Amino acid sequence: MKVYPRICGAVFNNEKESDKVEGKMKAVQILEPGKFEVISIDIPKPRRGEVLVAVQSVAICGSDPNIFSGKVRKNGWPPYYPFVAGHEFAARVVELGEAVTTLKVGDRVAGEAHCGCGTCEMCMQGFYNLCLNYGNSDAGHHHYGHNTPGCYAQYQVYDQKALTLLPENVSYDEGSLADTGGTAYNALKLTGVEPGGYTVIIGPGPMGIMTMMLAKAMGSRTIIVGRRERLQVAKKLGADFIVDYEKADDPVAAVRELTEGFGAHQVIECAGNATAYFEAVKMARKRGHVALISIPGDDGQEIAVKSMIMNQITVHGVRANPNCSRTVLNLMSQGAVDARGMITHTFPIDMIHEAFDTFINRKDGAVKVVIHPNGEEQEK
Ligand SMILES: [Zn+2]
Ligand SMILES: [Zn+2]
Repeated sequence: MKVYPRICGAVFNNEKESDKVEGKMKAVQILEPGKFEVISIDIPKPRRGEVLVAVQSVAICGSDPNIFSGKVRKNGWPPYYPFVAGHEFAARVVELGEAVTTLKVGDRVAGEAHCGCGTCEMCMQGFYNLCLNYGNSDAGHHHYGHNTPGCYAQYQVYDQKALTLLPENVSYDEGSLADTGGTAYNALKLTGVEPGGYTVIIGPGPMGIMTMMLAKAMGSRTIIVGRRERLQVAKKLGADFIVDYEKADDPVAAVRELTEGFGAHQVIECAGNATAYFEAVKMARKRGHVALISIPGDDGQEIAVKSMIMNQITVHGVRANPNCSRTVLNLMSQGAVDARGMITHTFPIDMIHEAFDTFINRKDGAVKVVIHPNGEEQEK
């Protein structure tokens, strides 16, 4: 892992646990589409049910460059400028708002992007990722780093519902991957992964590699389909088989060959390229399950509908990670998921431009790139 020199530490000595944290903090503000800077702004105050956290590790998500560039503005991400994005993080609780019952000052936590209102039909069923009050912050809904300020900052306020305690032996860096891991786990849960089967993962990016490790932890054999260096990273982190897009004439045939001709029990699509949605269905066996994680462009993507019907294949859309953080963090704690192995680079917040450049351009074999807003000091 590449650790870049710390240029500047925290504004506050955050080793000291305090009841009130006031003053200024560093935050990455998106000023206009494509333009962002580290700027000093006021530390926010926690409201009822919220806590203030000192952010220790933020993982750059594949969706962040689109939020920074203004490409997903039509979704309301970001809703205004300047805006603080970021949603994959681990942090330490430094101040409690009123009526916080689940956390105390000093707790180490991992965050989630989605916080539901808690009272609509979807939230009541546990699907707060699909909250019917989406975008209504007065009703208690937040999509952190998307329509509500997020974690590219030294401090941020979060609803207690969006935070999960870190097991003692899980570091902040590992904890920042709980959100990615949660989405991967949600996909696997939806497909009903069982031990002894085959899971195909299309796309060996951070989401695909995390899906591979979780599927393996759940007892499935794993086949990862992709290209170049990242395929080798997936292999190193435990993929049973790899299918190289650039070498295999027909990736669907290659998967069938590896699965005794029948296809896989589950296929998880994490690539988002033009053919992946179509091939995902073709790679599944009869009565298999397909989960689609990547969000396609507005022109949509073709799915192999005839194969889906004739082979009675179930296709699941996967949105985010409701009720998945605890399981993923426990699997990290047990050593079944090597989150550390995916983190190739860390940067201080002042080097945010270098960090994004490294992540976007996959420089130096970059897989997951993590920012340390409060310096390199990682552990308690
Ligand atoms: Zn993310
Ligand atoms: Zn709701």
